Amino acid sequence: MSTSAPPAARTIIERAYIATVDPAGSEFAVGFVVVDGTTIVAVGDGSSPQWARDGLTPDGVGATRDSSRASIRLIDGRGHLVTPGLINTHHHLYQWLTRGYAQDSILFDWLTSLYPLWARIDAELVEAGALGAMAVAAKSGCSTVGDHHYVFPSGAGDILGGIVKAAGELGVRIHATRGSMDLGQSQGGLPPDFAVESIDAILAASGEAVERYHDAGRGAMAQIALAPCSPFSVTAELLRESAALGRSLGVRLHTHGSETVEEDAFCLSKFGKTPTQYLEDLDWLGSDVWMAHCVHLDDHAIGRFAATGTAVAHCPSSNARLAAGIARVPAMLDAGISVGLGVDGAASNESGQLGTEIRMAVLMNRLGAGADRMPGRTALRMATMGGAKTLGRDGELGSLEVGKLADLAVWKIDGVEHAGILDPVAALTLGAQPPLALLLVNGVAVVEDGQLARVDEVVVASAVARASTALALR
Ligand SMILES: [Zn+2]
Repeated sequence: MSTSAPPAARTIIERAYIATVDPAGSEFAVGFVVVDGTTIVAVGDGSSPQWARDGLTPDGVGATRDSSRASIRLIDGRGHLVTPGLINTHHHLYQWLTRGYAQDSILFDWLTSLYPLWARIDAELVEAGALGAMAVAAKSGCSTVGDHHYVFPSGAGDILGGIVKAAGELGVRIHATRGSMDLGQSQGGLPPDFAVESIDAILAASGEAVERYHDAGRGAMAQIALAPCSPFSVTAELLRESAALGRSLGVRLHTHGSETVEEDAFCLSKFGKTPTQYLEDLDWLGSDVWMAHCVHLDDHAIGRFAATGTAVAHCPSSNARLAAGIARVPAMLDAGISVGLGVDGAASNESGQLGTEIRMAVLMNRLGAGADRMPGRTALRMATMGGAKTLGRDGELGSLEVGKLADLAVWKIDGVEHAGILDPVAALTLGAQPPLALLLVNGVAVVEDGQLARVDEVVVASAVARASTALALR
């Protein structure tokens, strides 16, 4: 399926508006970014440096890597905004096959109507759905996709393998999870018994997934985390054992928490605790944990998240679609909590676009906390550095700085949607999503001129349509 040319040894983007999202929030109205191989080697104000255009190393002495290919790609960035590649911290890629279902339900009713369908997935269907979901994410500027997969029907094949393979075909980074459910309806949980697994099977499969697909090295294109689904679909024992296993393997931990008032009521009646108190008692707060939604955190919970370094995946479109509520994100940021953005699964956010989730985060949090409490640049920071911190990749992703990996998005802002706008960053944070001129991941073009560079979109779309129909008929 790959149709791309070999990546340029050096890519120079110049005369663009650069929003670095570095710690100082540096922006250059007319600036440049220089990429060598997988790494950003220069970023700054004004014209690109002479050494870069001459194919020399940053000290101006040696020749750049692979200069024999004379493959310097020079991009005229006039009329464009350059940002770090966006980082999605919460998705359920398989749900791409179940868009449009249960359109007017709240979470528990929505889940109950979809579980029977989801329990019929297999590796082949999930791979098709994952390819579609990640294609749309990439076309909205997303370079790293965090996925939460927790449905593993017996005999369904290597589902995680299909997800990792799809990410590799598109060229995006994947943070996949070996998720789980072990609390069926007969034990007081929400999912039907046929959709859950035993603890022993889950823990064994979790270890295998880490062994097979987790890359702990710099520049990793695939990582694995452990991710029991939610307090109302897993047992306390599974939560505790998963946390211990994840920590012994050195991988991160992820789950849903405090999404709805019904979940609060479930935890209070069953455990006599809020979801945060319950999860903390099971070792599920910590700097290696990120939790999706966190819509209903009280002051105590925000304090505990901040004190323990627990990160949050904020999913405003999904929270609105399911009428879950408005998360207290400005209060979380004030407390020092790392917050990233997530699109959540496409069954509760049929858009699947991360670029537009920035605008949604601005709008929702202004409704929740006031117009001055969610500037556009704060939302952009959540979508980039916030996501990098949430996934534990802030040393190498999330900003345009020398030494970081070359994941960046080039947005066209001189078209009819944005020409003349006062602030180029507002084109992305408040305007229509700008056309994506280029998405680099690890220095390689994944999107060019708004089209996927490495796979045929028509083939992806027809595979998704076939898989969605096949699942609906099962
Ligand atoms: Zn979710």
